[in-house]
Amino acid sequence: HLDRVAAVDGEVHAFLHVATDAALASAAMVDEGLAAGTAPASPLAGVPLALKDVFTTLDMPTTAGSKILEGWRPPYDATVTSRLRSAGITILGKTNMDEFAMGSSTEYSAYGVTRNPWDTSRVPGGSGGGSAAALASFQAPLAIGTDTGGSIRQPAAFTGTVGVKPTYGGVSRYGLIACASSLDQGGPCARTVLDAALLHEVIGGYDPLDSTSIDERVPSVVEAARLGTSGDLSGLRVGVVRELGGEGYQAGVRASYEEALRQLEKLGAELVEVSCPHFEYGLAAYYLILPSEVSSNLARFDAMRYGLRVDKGASAEEVMAATREAGFGPEVKRRIMLGTYALSSGYYDAYYGQAQKVRTLISRDFAAAFGQADVLVSPATPTTAFPIGDKVDDPLAMYLNDLATIPTNLAGTAALSVPSGLADGLPVGLQVMAPALGEAVMYRVAAAYE
Ligand code: GLN
Repeated sequence: HLDRVAAVDGEVHAFLHVATDAALASAAMVDEGLAAGTAPASPLAGVPLALKDVFTTLDMPTTAGSKILEGWRPPYDATVTSRLRSAGITILGKTNMDEFAMGSSTEYSAYGVTRNPWDTSRVPGGSGGGSAAALASFQAPLAIGTDTGGSIRQPAAFTGTVGVKPTYGGVSRYGLIACASSLDQGGPCARTVLDAALLHEVIGGYDPLDSTSIDERVPSVVEAARLGTSGDLSGLRVGVVRELGGEGYQAGVRASYEEALRQLEKLGAELVEVSCPHFEYGLAAYYLILPSEVSSNLARFDAMRYGLRVDKGASAEEVMAATREAGFGPEVKRRIMLGTYALSSGYYDAYYGQAQKVRTLISRDFAAAFGQADVLVSPATPTTAFPIGDKVDDPLAMYLNDLATIPTNLAGTAALSVPSGLADGLPVGLQVMAPALGEAVMYRVAAAYE
């Protein structure tokens, strides 16, 4: 895999940091362990992985795609990082991403764009475009992403790979640099559903270091994925969300989706139409809640504690302002301003408060729909991968990418994107959504469909 990285990553630019020596040392340790019978019991021992550069790593820099963290060496490993290490998984390096996970194309990275291996003039999606591109270009068989509004599922759809957003609280956020804490969730990325399930069980589960971690067993997703590969979905009800998949979706994406529905029926599933009337307000609510949390979370980059420090001015305030001015990119600044405004006194009730109410209505839509169906489906994204440069200056067009993925984050439920053929020569993703902690049935359906 390191040879493959050397051969193709000059063009793809999936990695921000390749940890050649650490990766070789980790692989050698697993080899020795296998020989001595002391290797970790994990089936993934020795398998290499690409880690999104938003999880802290003791032995590698961590930038979150931002200049403000250039050169920062974290003093601790994220829980996800340490669980990967304990399973004997070799971390090849850190992958490119939109700055602080804000974006849908990886073009908002401070370290250059990542190219989609299917067509290098196009984006791989975002914010986790680096992880998805590493998988699609065979630089790594496994990767980790984070999904705040779609950043695992949308890149998976754009690159023909599998991406899973676990139930909120299912994977520890300890050592995950925060974008929006009530929405962020780390998850597995892979080329097959079973690979994603194996990785899910490694990183998932209770962590006392994360106060929002769910104190329950990780759903047995590997068993569910294996069951799914038998290809029989009889007895399962698949909810087709009326509000997702119609107007505003590329014709090829719609055609692929209709084909996917027929396929699910052939596998024995019963299709039921469900309505989630508040999903149409999801995007608007998300783009108030997310910036609000961002404006608060990113206050910690104060020139004193981490990374960049621009020593300009006589006071702490001036140094802080100069550092944030130089260190944050335009999209991050836009969101900090939006969030500060939405939270300001006099506007709080009209914006943030109202958005939180919409969030509750979306959760109720999900609850009602899951009363009628075991899983819900929709296209993962409205379009296939778009050309680099197409939307970078048009934030609203960029935000529309997340139309179908955002409701899941607002509700804290689980969802994944599984490859669903091609439209106009480019990959399309089918989104499968499940109730909180309902990952098993979601993996089963995806594995049967794959
Ligand atoms: N594209 C969305 C945004 O820009 C989602 C980001 C994410 O999931 N991290 O906020």
